[in-house]
Amino acid sequence: MPELPEVETVRRGLAPVMEGARIVQADVNRPNLRWPFPENMSRRLTGARIEQLRRRSKYILADLDTGESLLIHLGMSGRMLISGAKLGTFTHNHPAPEKHDHVVFHMDNGARITFNDPRRFGAMDLLDTSTADAHKLLSTIGPEPLGNGFNEAYLIDALQGKASPIKSALLDQRIVAGLGNIYVCETLYRARITPLRKAGQISKQRVATLVPIIRQVLSEAIDAGGSSLKDFRQADGDLGYFQHSFDVYGRESERCRTAGCGSLIKRVVQSGRSSFYCPNCQR
Ligand code: ZN
Repeated sequence: MPELPEVETVRRGLAPVMEGARIVQADVNRPNLRWPFPENMSRRLTGARIEQLRRRSKYILADLDTGESLLIHLGMSGRMLISGAKLGTFTHNHPAPEKHDHVVFHMDNGARITFNDPRRFGAMDLLDTSTADAHKLLSTIGPEPLGNGFNEAYLIDALQGKASPIKSALLDQRIVAGLGNIYVCETLYRARITPLRKAGQISKQRVATLVPIIRQVLSEAIDAGGSSLKDFRQADGDLGYFQHSFDVYGRESERCRTAGCGSLIKRVVQSGRSSFYCPNCQR
């Protein structure tokens, strides 16, 4: 499942070929992904110029000069493949169509962007740009963790009195946007807070430390994605997800990386998701 850094990496990869370019043709090869596509999607996109490609939580939004925005969600397995555009020093030919190429955008700059999604948990919708924030998928999402609305005072207030574990609270998209399992585990390790602790029982001082750590963890992941992205694209034009080096995530029974600790990383299941943590460092 892509989290915020992966979606941001995809957005940054797409922006140079999509922003400012016009969609000369939009192939919509099936009636639906996770949900039906919007009515007349192909017609509504054809001829539209993409003014801005932005991200809200795990959604990519392409603001069009038609007054509509195309919302894209990658789901579990969605990928955006670029071909035909100048990528670095050389140009790709367009690849042969593949089985799960569900939507294809042909841009007026020669680029082709293909949305490929074998499992079809992805989604696309068209919304009025002026009221996009009120869309049912976006209206309940909390502040962007890298934005100004997310700060120490906000998080202290949001977690006050919460009986749910801190792990679940940080995964709650109404509290903060775009955080998923991997980066919450890594954040709590760096903050030395156990994922099992009730959110409302953590001191204000410790809650405040979470804010810069969340920003740091996400920024590092975006930077890592960005640098891997370059090589990946030069190989085959594919924009995908990237392996990062994690301190706790996926490291059950391996040694804690904190100097002098020596404990083994534990895994527990909380609300159906695995939490990885060091029982010695995280209290
Ligand atoms: Zn440890």
